[in-house]
Amino acid sequence: MTRSFSNQTFRFAPSSNGLLHLGHAYSAALNFDLAQSTGGRMLLRIENIDVERCRPEFEQAIYDDLRWLGLSWELPPRRQSEHFADYANALERLRALGVAYPCFCSRGEIMAAVACKPDWPRDPDGSPLYPGLCKHLSPSERARRLAGGRSAAMRIDMAAALAHVGFQLDWLERSPSGAGASRRPATPAIWGDAIIARRDIKTSYHIAVVTDDALQGVTDVVRGEDLYMATHLHRLLQTLLDLPAPTYRHHRLLRDASGQKLSKSLRAKSLRALRQEGLSPQAARESLKVEATAAS
Ligand code: GLU
Repeated sequence: MTRSFSNQTFRFAPSSNGLLHLGHAYSAALNFDLAQSTGGRMLLRIENIDVERCRPEFEQAIYDDLRWLGLSWELPPRRQSEHFADYANALERLRALGVAYPCFCSRGEIMAAVACKPDWPRDPDGSPLYPGLCKHLSPSERARRLAGGRSAAMRIDMAAALAHVGFQLDWLERSPSGAGASRRPATPAIWGDAIIARRDIKTSYHIAVVTDDALQGVTDVVRGEDLYMATHLHRLLQTLLDLPAPTYRHHRLLRDASGQKLSKSLRAKSLRALRQEGLSPQAARESLKVEATAAS
């Protein structure tokens, strides 16, 4: 294991719901190189709370692909599916603060509630902000529904959460090269009463990521700019849960020849396929360095 001589800790946190592509390799290598150049720690986290879509063979492929690229990390990696109790604790703390409430709505009910309101505000992902249907249910009505076997998601009560915090949140954003840094104001209200625990898995990406970054002592979150907007919500959750604020670097996303960002859902060519076509790890790392130079 590499000996650390700084107190910086980096992590690469892929979801094991598909094969990695060059965009993941870019993010992983950026984290690894930053850990090396600062003498910091490099961690790997398998984000597999979505037990339906995440599979052991994808997890194995993550290890194989990253090793093929010549990357290394501290062992063992943290596997989120082994830590649901930590996420339940975080959720319980939010509930005890009075900033979370159960929501029984289906997607259809939410869409129907906003259907004739074309100007209804939307969150950064394009979904309508939650219209608050379950927000004012009485405690007895909530208890009645839960006792009747209705499953519920949990939502953050954004107004209550912001009132509880009581000051303007922000975060320190560095450029991926580390050269420039600026404080960015966090405006979590853009997400409205976001879901913080899905009804099926009883947690969410947001809860799991802030909990794990804190438990693992992550000081530097280096990830794709597609997660930039989520950082607004993460800073709120970190503050409510008394967790330290990491420094963030949101790097640009790799695109294919047609300008489309590489993504699993759009079936970007996997590292495994590139490897089978004869790409060498050296050539892969070289092409990522070219990307990094172009980005800085
Ligand atoms: N698991 C997320 C993904 O694969 C990344 C989470 C993060 O870096 O915060 O997109």
